[in-house]
Amino acid sequence: MSDLQNVAPELAAKIERLDALLDSIAARHADVKFASSLAAEDMLLTHAILSRGVKIGVFTLNTGRLHAETLGMLDRVRERYGYDIEQFHPQPAAVDEYAAAHGLNAFYESIDLRKRCCEIRKVEPLNRALAGVSAWVTGQRREQSVTRAELHEEEHDAARDIAKFNPLADWTEADVWAYLDAFDVPVNPLHARGYPSIGCEPCTRAIRPGEDSRAGRWWWESRDTKECGLHITTIPIAVSPESASA
Ligand code: SF4
Repeated sequence: MSDLQNVAPELAAKIERLDALLDSIAARHADVKFASSLAAEDMLLTHAILSRGVKIGVFTLNTGRLHAETLGMLDRVRERYGYDIEQFHPQPAAVDEYAAAHGLNAFYESIDLRKRCCEIRKVEPLNRALAGVSAWVTGQRREQSVTRAELHEEEHDAARDIAKFNPLADWTEADVWAYLDAFDVPVNPLHARGYPSIGCEPCTRAIRPGEDSRAGRWWWESRDTKECGLHITTIPIAVSPESASA
């Protein structure tokens, strides 16, 4: 159980439920893995998992286009928790082929070329990371974007035919930062420079006041196309508080 002495009662209740859900996921899926982007929500989950010794493996997709600050989070996790986050890289031949055919930064030219780059650098490595597992965990939240408004705590990932858990689905941004502050969790320094959502360096910018938190991701595209293909074709599963804490 997390130490909840210094947090507000409402947040403490959310944390208790989160801890119970993570324990329940680990008990039900011995092979479950958590896909971390190393951004704020995922550092929260990293802390909730590693500080309590929950048996959930943590990995990240090292796309080859991440900010130095994001890669630096691997060292900070190692220093804080003594844990090496597993890294999955794209296939070098696929990266070279894309660059030779279209150009290294062709993702700015069309949605198709952007999605193809995400397919090579994110989706294929994710599929490799999740090969053979029965469940995975993400740090997605409903209020992050229109594409996540229907997000459920537990879903069926139909594309991979495995369970998918989004334990922070109903957490607010304020909840996330209150948790990170309360437990002094290491965070990517880019957040303090106006990046609420962090992806690859060439596809992420700081947001302006009043913009939604995903506005800095693929900012040249319309709001409803802004996903990288990691979180598609999921079917919601209703979870009662009782089953979450089972
Ligand atoms: S976010 Fe940008 S650089 Fe990263 S994989 Fe997608 S298109 Fe490529």
